[in-house]
Amino acid sequence: MSSLVGPDEDEPTGKPPVPEDVQDAIRALIRWAGDDPEREGLLDTPKRVARAWREYCQGYAEDPAIHLERIFEEVGGYDEVVLLKDIPFQSHCEHHMAPIIGKAAIAYLPRNHVVGISKLARVLHGYARRLQIQERLTAEVAQCIWENLKPHGVAVVIEASHACMTARGVRTPGVGMITSRMMGTFLDDTRSRTEVLKLMGY
Ligand SMILES: [Zn+2]
Repeated sequence: MSSLVGPDEDEPTGKPPVPEDVQDAIRALIRWAGDDPEREGLLDTPKRVARAWREYCQGYAEDPAIHLERIFEEVGGYDEVVLLKDIPFQSHCEHHMAPIIGKAAIAYLPRNHVVGISKLARVLHGYARRLQIQERLTAEVAQCIWENLKPHGVAVVIEASHACMTARGVRTPGVGMITSRMMGTFLDDTRSRTEVLKLMGY
């Protein structure tokens, strides 16, 4: 079967090699878990794991605020809520480096200008692709929009399940955690908050 595939997908050309000490660390982890890192099926695993982790943590290489630089001022007087909901994301918890899988709803009340709607998701991914806790992820996304768009209000609600809870420890599959951050109008005005939560489906 190996004759049918091209160059090893785990040794992509033009990418820097994985440092030996990183591979050693993953070998040590495999040994610690109870397996033999020298057996055939695990030989290339350290490299794969290392590259996968670079991808999971891509967010460290970017400033998510960059996605909010391009704004549109011609909004035709639109001054109601802009909401992007059910945005799927993946992150990793900083306590166990285990997956956090969930969805986010991000809303803001524009002040004279808006951004391309996909940019809200890019801000989310910029912070999600790091080692996180859900509470901080929620706060960072809200704060970034608040500071860079200077809207009247920001609301972020994140619902996620944590593999460190569902696959280990208390092992409770299906359990989800909800966090929210309200700023500006959504924090100060109960009616606006109720309205945006309803639009989000809460
Ligand atoms: Zn955890």
